[in-house]
Amino acid sequence: MIPGARLVVLGKQGAGKGTQCVRLARHYVIPHISTGEMFRAAVKGGTEFGRKAKAYMDTGELVPDDVVIGVVRERLDQDDTKERGFCLDGFPRTVAQAEALEELLSPRGLDLVLDLEVPTDVVLRRLATRRACQDCGENYSIDSPPKSAWICDSCGGEVVQREDDNVGAIRRRLDLYEKETAPLIAWYMRADKLVAVDGIGSPDDVTGRLVRAIDARRARHA
Ligand code: ADP
Repeated sequence: MIPGARLVVLGKQGAGKGTQCVRLARHYVIPHISTGEMFRAAVKGGTEFGRKAKAYMDTGELVPDDVVIGVVRERLDQDDTKERGFCLDGFPRTVAQAEALEELLSPRGLDLVLDLEVPTDVVLRRLATRRACQDCGENYSIDSPPKSAWICDSCGGEVVQREDDNVGAIRRRLDLYEKETAPLIAWYMRADKLVAVDGIGSPDDVTGRLVRAIDARRARHA
């Protein structure tokens, strides 16, 4: 049986976290937990919580720590993550969230944190051309659109530009990444949990690098 894993993937907006986390989740047979996707589902569902989250998301602000931590706590409390682990995408994003995660996972903790490195000029280009399926979240770009005019290849949903992929919100999200999330790199490095992986190249190349980094860490601890 494939052993589970407890992974966090860090990286700027547009670094490819979503794409790579889907692949890692499949490879290690673990749930992919994306806080962004969870919030977008709540917005679509029209819940009170969704309405509140939308106001933060559309302007590129962070949803308050206590709210995000509550959502993640509930998700990590479910049997699938307890048994197999998880690939966390978009969480933690602040030191307070990382501290809360440590507490939630104690005593075993995380196996590894992967920092997907992509320069800012590249992510800016990717975000400007990114399009996503409204229903399943599958990512496309204007350079590699779905096969039939903006209809998702995977689920048939409509492929559109995300509301927060506008110039103002992109700038704000990248600023907040530098201010709030980038300090986590040093934080996890000190805990000897961090591996940096080059996020430039084809999705298959990047997945190969991530899997090698995770397996090398496992071999070290076996
Ligand atoms: P991106 O990384 O491109 O900003 P996500 O899909 O991960 O996209 O997140 C979309 C939005 O959801 C964020 O801009 C933020 O408003 C909210 N969000 C997601 N995860 C978190 C988090 N861990 N803490 C605070 N806000 C979050």
